[in-house]
Amino acid sequence: MSHVSERILVQAHLDAKQPKPLTPAEEDAYRQDIAAELKKQNAVLVAHYYCDPVLQALAEETGGCVADSLEMARFGSQHPAQTLVVAGVKFMGETAKILNPEKRILMPTLEATCSLDLGCPVDEFSAFCDQHPERTVVVYANTSAAVKARADWVVTSSCALEIVESLMDNGETILWAPDQHLGRYIQRETGADMLLWEGACIVHEEFKSKQLADMKALYPQAAVLVHPESPEAVIELADAVGSTSQLIKAAQTLPNEMFIVATDRGIFYKMQQLCPGKQFIEAPTAGSGATCRSCAHCPWMAMNTLERMLQSLRTGSNEILVDAALIPKAVKPLKRMLDFTQAARLTLAGNA
Ligand code: SF4
Repeated sequence: MSHVSERILVQAHLDAKQPKPLTPAEEDAYRQDIAAELKKQNAVLVAHYYCDPVLQALAEETGGCVADSLEMARFGSQHPAQTLVVAGVKFMGETAKILNPEKRILMPTLEATCSLDLGCPVDEFSAFCDQHPERTVVVYANTSAAVKARADWVVTSSCALEIVESLMDNGETILWAPDQHLGRYIQRETGADMLLWEGACIVHEEFKSKQLADMKALYPQAAVLVHPESPEAVIELADAVGSTSQLIKAAQTLPNEMFIVATDRGIFYKMQQLCPGKQFIEAPTAGSGATCRSCAHCPWMAMNTLERMLQSLRTGSNEILVDAALIPKAVKPLKRMLDFTQAARLTLAGNA
């Protein structure tokens, strides 16, 4: 099945389950109730940049965090709360559980998954690894606990380049999974010897280079920000390529007043908050030029709602459980990533 038809099916499935929109008064009531429950239960809310802005704001107001998947993992591990409420997709909840097996991890829904995770089933992936035992196995965080348990390293888009570079400097060859576009980008940037699994993100894969070039011609003053899960031809048009946190940084530091952004539009909440005078436009996923109809929003991230979050907190439903036998194996490559990035931060701070 192509990613486009897969997306249409997913969207139809999700549309059937979307609750009716809330009135402002209902939304306020949910926010207050969730804040009170978080306090009562010694819980903290960790939200991804792609979630509904209402959830991102709530995480900030209640002392939680809004971040990319690397920082979500780090924050959850360092925060003293006994319950973590993760607004994002399932692999993020699983990562939190693997790193904090003693904590309770709740999610608004357990149905929120990811096309990269779905496209990399552990049996097939293990067979692929078995065929290439000489290669170091590097997997993206967007994978199941079982796939992580089969890996030597876990990476996110904010540290993948540096980790692959350091493995290459060690003389290692790499088996990479599951995102082929990110893998190819890293291969081009580093020159590393990488064998790629052929997964893709159904959101980023839909950005269109021809239409993006048209849009760029219409707004020559705009800088183009692209997430490296996008196709190569889209990445080639970018003024900055990077993870969500790196794109937010680029929006802050580049002098442009306007940006065309090729990633999930949920990121606009943080970009607008940090760059109030600047303008952000979605990169095109369909149509032509500036009048495209974009669908740059992850259907699984959209399943995180206030109602589901309150329900989960009140009833303890949607708790993330990970097979206890997998945790010791899956935690090793995750900890390697956290240690590597921590050391790199210290080096950067030392060089500052
Ligand atoms: S945006 Fe793409 S990579 Fe991120 S959770 Fe959704 S499907 Fe997965």
